[in-house]
Amino acid sequence: MHVAIAGFMLESVSFLPQPTTLADFQRRELHCRAVIDGHRGTNQIIGGFVEVCEAEGIEMTGIVSTSAGAAASATDEAFDHYCRVICEGIARVKDRIDGVLLALHGAMTTVTRTDPDADVVREVRRVVGPEMPIVVGLDYHGNLDEEILRHADALFGYHYSPHTDMGETGARAARCLVRWLKTGKKPATAIARPGVMVPSIFSATNLEPLAGLVRESIDMPSCVPGLHDVTIFAGFSYADAPNTGFSVVAVADDKAIAQKAVDDLSLKIHYERHQLYKRDLVLTLSQGVDEALRRSNSATKPIVLLEHADRLNDSTHVLKELIRRGVRKAMVPYLWDPKAAAEAVAAGKGATVSIKAGGFSSDRAGGPATLSGKVLFAGDLTYRTTGPVGRGSEVRLGPTALIDAGGIFVSLTTNPITALDTDCFAQFGLKAEDFPIIVLRSKTHFRAVYQPLAEDILIVDTPDWGPADLTTLPYRHVPTDRVFPFVDAGRP
Ligand SMILES: [Zn+2]
Repeated sequence: MHVAIAGFMLESVSFLPQPTTLADFQRRELHCRAVIDGHRGTNQIIGGFVEVCEAEGIEMTGIVSTSAGAAASATDEAFDHYCRVICEGIARVKDRIDGVLLALHGAMTTVTRTDPDADVVREVRRVVGPEMPIVVGLDYHGNLDEEILRHADALFGYHYSPHTDMGETGARAARCLVRWLKTGKKPATAIARPGVMVPSIFSATNLEPLAGLVRESIDMPSCVPGLHDVTIFAGFSYADAPNTGFSVVAVADDKAIAQKAVDDLSLKIHYERHQLYKRDLVLTLSQGVDEALRRSNSATKPIVLLEHADRLNDSTHVLKELIRRGVRKAMVPYLWDPKAAAEAVAAGKGATVSIKAGGFSSDRAGGPATLSGKVLFAGDLTYRTTGPVGRGSEVRLGPTALIDAGGIFVSLTTNPITALDTDCFAQFGLKAEDFPIIVLRSKTHFRAVYQPLAEDILIVDTPDWGPADLTTLPYRHVPTDRVFPFVDAGRP
């Protein structure tokens, strides 16, 4: 048996002004054999594809893989390029392969498209014809509806956020394909949508009642004969699309079994909508900093200030407030600013600098903060992650500097990377435990490491493009007349 494997992932914050370009994707692009070799052993969807295919003795042809993380809408040029490369690559081998495995995010938008993930699958289907199996692994934050299922045979998403099971998700998808190829029995897939949106911050699967709903989705196949797999997708509320929001997908022996499973779970999500939207966990900037300063005096572990509304790792709202309050010890890892990083790197290790940094990605990012102090590190940094989310994945920070600005340590990076684990300390010979206040920007993934490490996590809402109150966003495509929290009517 022989399968083709491709990956094309972006989580789009549609409101950000600067689109994600072809060059942004090309930084993390792999081709042909490197798609297989570069993902082997990683906790990524394609890593899971590779693990199962190698264990089953299935031949693999890698086409292309790329991921631009979480950023703005893609340019149409970038979308057209990868869609073409994937389709042409599959067309070249289509007479030799028995199936296609795709790794997509599910919440990409482009400048003109609101469901490019489904568009890619449609184009692949056009190439391989109606009979060839197409099985897709997706992010838990995918926005999905019936459209993608018109072209894909089965969909599988991460169960957890933090995404500690990305590799296992790829493995679930690959095992489905293997079962189909061995038995000749085509699986049936169904989707249901509860009409509920929540900000990413509330999509953490350790928060109840979501934790219980996810447990139920994982347990369902062992209780229902013929049901193979159920995924709850939380959706991604900062992608502006008609299908933004929660969905439930099930894969089963027949459609009726799958449909019943997703309808039941979707109804439960709708009933729990108010409990899923945890407004009382969110603090204002001054409330958050007040609380962090008060608690850090007596805390034995760090307090995390979560600037969750930042989508590009350059917001300066919290950093500026810490500087303004004269905070003497804090860490602000991975502030994205290529110009400021270049300036500090040029000054060199040991230099005393005064640099304006961050706050540039949009008029909501806070404007630049002035960092006055000593450069403790200056150089180009690339490493592989050691934390549980995406373990083993390569991180390229580019030219990077660490500045000690009066006890507030800020690392400036050339590429926008979100700090998820303690690599952002270890790379500079630092320990997270030595800092009473740590400013992070991850939405849920950081919790895998920082929930046990931190005394407390304080969620601070800043006026950036990923706010806790979704009703403040200028949606154009989300049907705000039919979806919670914009309306609290019955299910659409
Ligand atoms: Zn995600």
